[in-house]
Amino acid sequence: MKHELPKLSYEYNALEPYIDEKTMVIHHTKHHQAYIDKLNAALEKYPELQKKDIKELVRNLNSVPEEIRTAVKNHGGGHFNHSFFWKIMTSNAEKEPKGEIKVCINKDFGSFEKFREQFINSAATLFGSGWTWLVINEKKKLEIINTSNQDNPISMGKKPLLGIDVWEHSYYLKYQNKRVDYVNAFFNIINWKQVDENLKK
Ligand code: MN
Repeated sequence: MKHELPKLSYEYNALEPYIDEKTMVIHHTKHHQAYIDKLNAALEKYPELQKKDIKELVRNLNSVPEEIRTAVKNHGGGHFNHSFFWKIMTSNAEKEPKGEIKVCINKDFGSFEKFREQFINSAATLFGSGWTWLVINEKKKLEIINTSNQDNPISMGKKPLLGIDVWEHSYYLKYQNKRVDYVNAFFNIINWKQVDENLKK
C-alpha cells in the first residue's frame, strides 16, 4: 500500500490573495508529491512498514530501521506536515477562534492578540527551513514551538493543533524575502474550526 497525495478540499486559487495559485499548485503537486515519492521509495523493502499510516510512522521513528530512519523522518515528516497544513487553511476563515480553542488560547497566552504576536514572532525568527506550530505539550498546555526541516511535534510527543510551513517554497513567489508578510497573511485563512477539532481529538 503506497502513500498517496491527498486531495485538497478547495481549489488551488481558493486562498488568494493570501497564498497565490501558482505557489499552491507547485507546493501541492511538486513538493508534497516529492516527499511522498521518496517516502514510498524508502519503504519499498519494508512491507510491514508500508501498512502503517503516516502518523504512526512518524510518531515511532525509533522503531524504523536505521537504514531508512532519516528518509522516513524527512520525507514521512514532509508528508505528514503538508497533509496537516492543507487542512488547517480555508477560504471561509473566521478572523478569530471560537469555542474551546478560544478559551484555551486566552488561558495560556492571555489573549488572542498576544498569541498571534508570539506565533508570528516565532515564525519570523525561525532560522533556515522549518515549521511553526501551536501544540498541546506534555503538561497539557498550549505552546508555540518551531521545528527544523520536516521535523514535527508528534515525533516529540506533542500534539499539533495549528502549523505553518515557513520553508521558502511556501511563500517565495509572492512574498520573496518578506516572510513576516506571509505569516501575517496566513492569519486570514486559518481554519479555526479544524484547529478546534484538532484540540478535541
Ligand atoms: Mn512545504
